[in-house]
Amino acid sequence: MSTIDFDVVIIGLGPTGGTLANLLAMNNLSVLVLEKEAGIYNLPRAVHFDDEVMRVFNTIGITKSLKKKIIINKGTKFVNEKGELLLDWPRPKVITENGWYPSYRFHQPDLERSLRHKLKRYEKVVISQNSEVYKTINYKNHSIIQYKNIKTNQIFSVKSKYVIGCDGANSFLRKQIKSEMEHLGFEQRWAVIDLILKTKKPNLPDRTIQYCNSKRPATYCRNVGKRRRWEIALKAEESVEQFFDSKKLWKFLSQWVSKDEAIIERKTVYTFQSAIANKWRRGRQILVGDAAHLTPPFMGQGMCAGIRDASNLAWKISICCKKGHNERLLDTYQSERSSNVKDYINTAMKMGELLNSIGGSKVSDTVYVEKDGTIKMNSIKPELGKGLGKLNDKNRGKIFPSLKINFNKEFDDLFSCYPILITNNNESEKKLKIRTYRSIDIPEIKIILKKFNSNSLIIRPDRFVLASTDKSDLKEFSHFCHNDIYAL
Ligand SMILES: Cc1cc2nc3c(=O)[nH]c(=O)nc-3n(C[C@H](O)[C@H](O)[C@H](O)COP(=O)(O)OP(=O)(O)OC[C@H]3O[C@@H](n4cnc5c(N)ncnc54)[C@H](O)[C@@H]3O)c2cc1C
Repeated sequence: MSTIDFDVVIIGLGPTGGTLANLLAMNNLSVLVLEKEAGIYNLPRAVHFDDEVMRVFNTIGITKSLKKKIIINKGTKFVNEKGELLLDWPRPKVITENGWYPSYRFHQPDLERSLRHKLKRYEKVVISQNSEVYKTINYKNHSIIQYKNIKTNQIFSVKSKYVIGCDGANSFLRKQIKSEMEHLGFEQRWAVIDLILKTKKPNLPDRTIQYCNSKRPATYCRNVGKRRRWEIALKAEESVEQFFDSKKLWKFLSQWVSKDEAIIERKTVYTFQSAIANKWRRGRQILVGDAAHLTPPFMGQGMCAGIRDASNLAWKISICCKKGHNERLLDTYQSERSSNVKDYINTAMKMGELLNSIGGSKVSDTVYVEKDGTIKMNSIKPELGKGLGKLNDKNRGKIFPSLKINFNKEFDDLFSCYPILITNNNESEKKLKIRTYRSIDIPEIKIILKKFNSNSLIIRPDRFVLASTDKSDLKEFSHFCHNDIYAL
């Protein structure tokens, strides 16, 4: 039998595939990325990501270049037809436990370019564009992937330990593994129009504004630089051509901006949907990102969910590639991620109902009334679903805070690929094959352990606490760690 060509084949080089490929490459895996398009997708899509996602980008090492191309997002207001405030969702400019601001605005092609640029430095990563995957076969110990070059029609076949479908909303791999989309109830056509301002428009809001209206719900986004976006719901009887009729479109936009003041950079119509795949993995074939779930974009969380998937899966795949396939470990990918993404989808759907004026302002449990009567919302923080670790462990699934251990070194850098143990204990875990950092050497650890009210914590590479632990727990988890992990 021929040997394995790659540890992992990734189908699709959108933001999810680009992030996953980077994380796997950091784990020293060989990766083939197959992308059917020749270039970067250039219709309007994501414009927002959050602190948790920025931390993943920092792990990959792209925040230095990205920081020049993003702005801090101030938050969202929902208003009614009279312009009265229905719900205020501010994003305070305060550094979070993830070490970044809660919310950023960006231009999706800029991010995709940064991800691709970073991938070029890895010798074991091959990117093949114009390459459309048309068949995959799952075997017990490997997968076969067949694809064709859509320019030359040449056919190729490769063999890998895993194949991962980051192939978007119409995922080929999802159909291939016979996974069904469970539709959660939201479906509506929206036009999305990106404009570039020609003049300064200081009167345009600095926040995202959601215009709640039963006839014509709309969203305004303050994007990076001179870019501004309007998203507008289409009426059932309205055709795309009718809506994009230049005169009518500018008449609608004239509430905010005139034809003399801006140019339309790009526009399209999407059907916003809410859906989740019932099966995210079959054997060695796995779905990630839009291939596994779809959300209306009212929270700006679709791509964020895909980046979280990639962060959850990368280190588990890496352990499987290095130590052998582990069904139990891989099962925790869907169980930990699906409930988390469902919480975002449900909240976004409630926001959609508020926008359509068929639902109220109580879009989540984090909505509260201020003393002055303003209805406000804090960002939701859905938990990691059940999976690794014990649910009765109070620290399991908490985000481990970002920590600087000296002027230019981040503690995150020490555990981007393997779980680690941090401990106050100087002796007992010495024989265990897990990399250990002790508070005696890094004083910040003592402070953190005190905050978690524990003497020892195991931390996962995706920055979640795996367990607050005693010795027996450690033994249970150490088999997830790679052989070259050692106690210091
Ligand atoms: C209007 C709008 C606004 C949005 N705003 C936000 C936001 O502010 N924040 C946010 O987090 N999310 C937002 N989203 C969602 C976000 O854009 C998507 O979740 C994200 O782009 C999905 O990334 P992905 O990599 O999973 O899939 P995609 O970006 O769709 O990438 C899939 C890739 O796979 C390739 N492919 C498909 N089939 C094959 C095949 N058979 N062989 C080879 N290649 C293949 C495709 O060509 C494509 O490049 C928004 C979406 C829309 C529509």
